[in-house]
Amino acid sequence: MEIESMVANSALVRAREDGGSKGRSYKWKELLRFPHISQCVALAMNTERDYYSLCVKQPIGKSLFQLFCRSRPDLQNYMSLLDALGTFETKSDEERKGFGTSIIQRFFSSQSNQYVSLVQRHEQSCIQSLEHDPCGDVFKACREDLHQYLSGKPFIQYQDSMFFDRFIQWKMVERQPITKQAFRQYRLLGKGGFGEVWACQVRASGMMYACKKLEKTHVKKRKGEGLALNEKQILETLDSRFVVNLAYAYETKSALCMVLTMMSGGDLKFHIYNIGQPGLEKDRVQFYSAEVCCGLSHLHQKSIVYRDLKPENILLDDNGHIRISDLGLAVRLSEGQPVRGRVGTVGYMAPEVIGHEYYDMSADWWGLGCLIYEMTAGRPPFHEYRECPKASEMERRIRNEKEEYGGRFSKHVKDLCSLLLRKDPKQRLGCQGPGAWEVKAHPFFRSINFRMMEAGLVEPPFKPDPRLVYCNDVQDIEEFTAVRGVTLDRTDSDFYAMFNTGSVPITWQNEMIETGCFRELNIFGPAGSRSPDLDW
Ligand code: ADP
Ligand code: MG
Ligand code: MG
Repeated sequence: MEIESMVANSALVRAREDGGSKGRSYKWKELLRFPHISQCVALAMNTERDYYSLCVKQPIGKSLFQLFCRSRPDLQNYMSLLDALGTFETKSDEERKGFGTSIIQRFFSSQSNQYVSLVQRHEQSCIQSLEHDPCGDVFKACREDLHQYLSGKPFIQYQDSMFFDRFIQWKMVERQPITKQAFRQYRLLGKGGFGEVWACQVRASGMMYACKKLEKTHVKKRKGEGLALNEKQILETLDSRFVVNLAYAYETKSALCMVLTMMSGGDLKFHIYNIGQPGLEKDRVQFYSAEVCCGLSHLHQKSIVYRDLKPENILLDDNGHIRISDLGLAVRLSEGQPVRGRVGTVGYMAPEVIGHEYYDMSADWWGLGCLIYEMTAGRPPFHEYRECPKASEMERRIRNEKEEYGGRFSKHVKDLCSLLLRKDPKQRLGCQGPGAWEVKAHPFFRSINFRMMEAGLVEPPFKPDPRLVYCNDVQDIEEFTAVRGVTLDRTDSDFYAMFNTGSVPITWQNEMIETGCFRELNIFGPAGSRSPDLDW
């Protein structure tokens, strides 16, 4: 490895280790300073008073609403019950019955000092579900009743409290314009179609991210405006632990930038081909494909077809969990109507995509078949790893040839792959109605607990080494050359403005909480009084 690469790598490894509070700028409190509450009036007026968005979905909103409820003696028990219901979801299958029973004893019995009369009417049905199906959504009706109650009078009173004022202050900080000054830049991680991806760190919080830059001249020359905006707009509507999150979208003089969840563990292509023999162990194949299933399930629930499933688009984080990335080709089906369009990567496109037919989620289940095949065999299903057949030959094979299964395929993985690689989408696994559930129920996944996996509680079989950088050396990543003869004008600025929307609320709020900034800055006056910045 060359010296330049070693220096770039060790700077990145050090920043990752110091991530969080140590990586903050010495001016971090200034960067996140709350405006005085009197400067927040316009934003408060324009904020839609939607309980679900303000008190459940947005992480800082949820925390402040909880702090408000905790400050009110009459709401204590409601909050404790809500907490207990959250903890219940983190319990293993064996623990659920016992923990569920303790919830019923604590909150459903009128003798208990934590009694919540509101949910009492569900006691019998909860006891029964705990008995028969403890892994089902036992307390669904209770949770709904609790939120129904909290969204009434308590929510109205919350909006008159200093906790809601503080929420609006956080929203003001969240909405500050974002420029490249907000970040420190580390090494180059990879190269994409329109530009480079760099490791970066938020100066205010110390959080590490990956910044995907799209060169404006490249985008314009290749008419990529639609693609760029599509990727950004789809990413900002998603919130899944199995898909990269968008944290910021901003522009510089020369580039459009998307700041994404940092995935330090490299992509699956690197793991399949660059470490030992091609291919992965069975437990890793099973774990990664199960997590990809969860990611696809999330996208499909939102009527999004991903269309670009292949090993290099599946990235590992530093714990060994995967996320789907690169949503440039994803498409949202309008009113569930199928789409047409030959998009994807040669070698991974489904027969119906190649054949110009209308298709929907079926394209992704085919892609999952290709992925499982490649992880197992150490080569893609329809060509050798480094072989580049002509597009017409590739299409012929995909549409007409049956893939071969060598000795590395166990009975279950072979069965699963051949069901996912059925040429006719109507016959394919995943396309018969229940979607992802049909795939998750396949015997290959028998030992995977999908409920725990969705909650992020299944331990990955492989953890990347924190001292390694899982990508090609800096000098091996080709440089991006400037485009000549393209000038940027007014019409381009309109498009840039649509792209340049700054922080994405849920990801940004999670960043503030995870890095400890929320806890350190969210202080009030003595004995629960207002602090000066909240004093009208
Ligand atoms: P393109 O859409 O142009 O193909 P990608 O989104 O696939 O661009 O990014 C290009 C490369 O940058 C990837 O193959 C990967 O090596 C790296 N990369 C992309 N996103 C991340 C991320 N979130 N974390 C770490 N590396 C990333
Ligand atoms: Mg890519
Ligand atoms: Mg892309």
